[in-house]
Amino acid sequence: MNIILLGPPGAGKGTQSARLVDHYGMRQLSTGDMLRAAVKAQTPVGLKAKAVMDRGELVSDEIVSELIDAELAAMGPDTGAIFDGYPRTEAQAEILDQLLEKHGRALDHVIELDVDEDALVERITGRFTCANCGAGYHDTFQQPTVEGVCDKCGSTEFKRRPDDNEETVRTRMQEYRAKTAPILPGYEARGIVRRVDGMADIDAVAASIDAILG
Ligand code: ADP
Ligand code: ADP
Ligand code: ZN
Repeated sequence: MNIILLGPPGAGKGTQSARLVDHYGMRQLSTGDMLRAAVKAQTPVGLKAKAVMDRGELVSDEIVSELIDAELAAMGPDTGAIFDGYPRTEAQAEILDQLLEKHGRALDHVIELDVDEDALVERITGRFTCANCGAGYHDTFQQPTVEGVCDKCGSTEFKRRPDDNEETVRTRMQEYRAKTAPILPGYEARGIVRRVDGMADIDAVAASIDAILG
């Protein structure tokens, strides 16, 4: 199974990916996570990408596509792929088709998380993750069971993304509208888009996705 989770920043792509990884043993391919790891490790890609990410603009199609290619090459053929935050432009969508063919895969579903943009700023400015294991949380919508302690690994250290501020979020939304939303019609023409109400609570969104995956 190969699926794309599509939606603007804060739509819930990472949250739902994490659940699919836990429940179905699928693999999450998040170009955002890969880029943040590259920034942290100060690789050439990371050094190039950092300023662009801090502004909320898109990193080049070549850079992110190479990251995806490398991940697919390292995966067993039977492990399902969840594309989270990729593709984000029409060029990336075309490259993804080529990469899938190269790695002997086919796209099953494009799951569009349909959300109300006004709610996204609150989701993003309240987002934090475990510094140890990366588990995702929210100040209001998804707090750890015990305050200050990660549910998954017990760590007491958390972090917030530098680009999760209101100003950068506006730029990221504009990028989504201008460059990412236009890839949907192409997938719609192929009959593989499944729209899910991303404003429902986290468990309800998960149930809708489970229903699609059958
Ligand atoms: P979000 O939570 O907003 O969906 P991501 O973690 O997916 O954010 O991405 C963070 C940043 O990394 C983006 O604002 C962009 O600068 C860069 N980025 C991630 N994926 C891509 C991609 N597929 N193409 C270009 N830039 C990307
Ligand atoms: P994305 O990967 O699409 O940028 P995330 O999955 O990181 O989005 O979600 C953004 C923030 O909103 C996180 O703090 C997460 O806990 C929270 N969140 C995710 N899905 C929902 C939901 N359905 N309802 C309320 N909050 C949510
Ligand atoms: Zn943790």
